[in-house]
Amino acid sequence: ATARETRRFETEVKQLLHLMVHSLYSNKEIFLRELISNAADAADKLRFNALSNPELLAGDNDVRVRLIVDKEAGTLTISDNGIGMTRDEAIANLGTIAKSGTAEFLSKLSGDQKKDAQLIGQFGVGFYSGFIVADRITVRSRAAGTKPQEAIQWESAGDGEFTIESINKEERGTDVVLHLKEGEKAFLEPWRLRSLVHKYSEHIAIPVQLPKEDDEGKATDEFETANKATALWTRPKSEISDEEYKEFYKHIAHDFDEPLTWAHNRVEGKHEYTSLFYIPKRAPFDLWNRDRPRGVKLYVKRVFIMDDAEQFLPVYLRFARGVIDSNDLPLNVSREILQDSSVTDALRKQSVKRILGMLDDLAKDEEKYLGFWDEFGQVLKEGLGEDFANREAIAKLLRFASTHNDDAKQSVSLGAYVERMKTNQTAIYYLSAENYSSAKHSPHLEVFRKKGIEVLLLTDRIDEWMLSYLNDFDGKPLVSVTRGELDLGALETETDKAIQKELEQQSAGLVERIKNALGERVKEVRITHRLTDSPACVVGEKHEMGAHMLKLMKQTGQ
Ligand code: ADP
Ligand code: MG
Repeated sequence: ATARETRRFETEVKQLLHLMVHSLYSNKEIFLRELISNAADAADKLRFNALSNPELLAGDNDVRVRLIVDKEAGTLTISDNGIGMTRDEAIANLGTIAKSGTAEFLSKLSGDQKKDAQLIGQFGVGFYSGFIVADRITVRSRAAGTKPQEAIQWESAGDGEFTIESINKEERGTDVVLHLKEGEKAFLEPWRLRSLVHKYSEHIAIPVQLPKEDDEGKATDEFETANKATALWTRPKSEISDEEYKEFYKHIAHDFDEPLTWAHNRVEGKHEYTSLFYIPKRAPFDLWNRDRPRGVKLYVKRVFIMDDAEQFLPVYLRFARGVIDSNDLPLNVSREILQDSSVTDALRKQSVKRILGMLDDLAKDEEKYLGFWDEFGQVLKEGLGEDFANREAIAKLLRFASTHNDDAKQSVSLGAYVERMKTNQTAIYYLSAENYSSAKHSPHLEVFRKKGIEVLLLTDRIDEWMLSYLNDFDGKPLVSVTRGELDLGALETETDKAIQKELEQQSAGLVERIKNALGERVKEVRITHRLTDSPACVVGEKHEMGAHMLKLMKQTGQ
């Protein structure tokens, strides 16, 4: 056996621990959800590994988690018989933060408790949340397939270091012993634990057990299951309450907030599967990190296979969370097999349809939808380039600022624009600029204002790129008001045209002089009726990139 060894936490862990304890205090009971959730994950991993290596189960097939209280010692133990951890695993998993973007996350923290609590919630609190209620945590663990004397004990007071030593442990799995703080002894009351299990862990696919009590209310050696312990998505929709859907979301997404919306479907026929998708209310702190884990939890015939199966969702739907449970994939499916499986292709297509459909439904509730748009609209725009087949469905979901509303809020859909188009108007007009204020004050808008024609104001970095994939909507071309010779077509009256002609003739000399003065710097000088107040403006050629795009490319050195 190895002697007791003391190690220091990674700096990030120390920071996170400190923050968690201080900013999550008002949410402290979530520690139980996190620890039960880890036990459920450990059970899932054991079942999965046992598919190829049945000896791991060693005859003990009933995986469960137990809550055991010791009032005298003041401890609450969360005990599972799942996959367990070896010494190295315990050091790596309970002493570091493996998540990508950790440093970025920590740098975003503001010191404002409420905001930080929100951020930590999105980051995922996990194991360390135990320190909100405990001043010391002891973890005893024995990995499946190892001998009793190969078990380990990890211990820490959450103050910067932990110890690790070898112990003997008869049962496979992990015991997390929380030495509760003086003020947290209420978590030793079985009724309190029972109610928390109902609240947070009703639907997870592992029994959560508490000791049976005798007639006098004393704990016996027998255990009884306190939760339903059936995977939520396997139950009929009609029997699942909104509360249960919401809690399940918090469980799989590690989010504090409720989801914005969800869709639960069981599909039979050529492919048999169940999907349960959620749209979060808020973007995770690392939405723009391309390497961040994304995708759904994959199950095959109710057996957990993997987290973050990204094969089922395109990158532009990376904000969606959920579960897919397939009856068609083999249980030994790997990421490589998923990559080129026709089942994956079919499920992916249907998942995309389902999620775009969910968003379309959500759009009926404008306030909710605009909340979604603020958080994820920019990501959704990527879909125009990424998902040609669903271009139209995505275009319907776009929202823009517009001269119609006179504010910066992106709230106008292309559909609403088209409905408001003038009788003779054939194009959808837009102006792209660096920000709302320069868009709004652009001289290019003058003629449109005069004629009462709506113009969409595009100011997101991604917009010009997006427009290269979105040429038209509902049969109407999207036309930039800053490009080419502006032809308002049938919107021009005969008098407009006559005045324009006359002006051109009168000003021929002036145009010539300006041309000479500017020389090589311009291609052409034209008389325009675009302007009503400004004397002159610069326009690009019809097929040239927009001015804003040119600027962007210069900035990136192209
Ligand atoms: P997450 O669950 O998001 O990975 P946690 O902080 O909750 O993050 O847990 C960190 C890691 O510690 C887990 O990924 C897992 O490897 C390990 N772990 C925690 N609890 C257990 C447990 N009961 N059994 C086995 N491994 C565990
Ligand atoms: Mg966890």
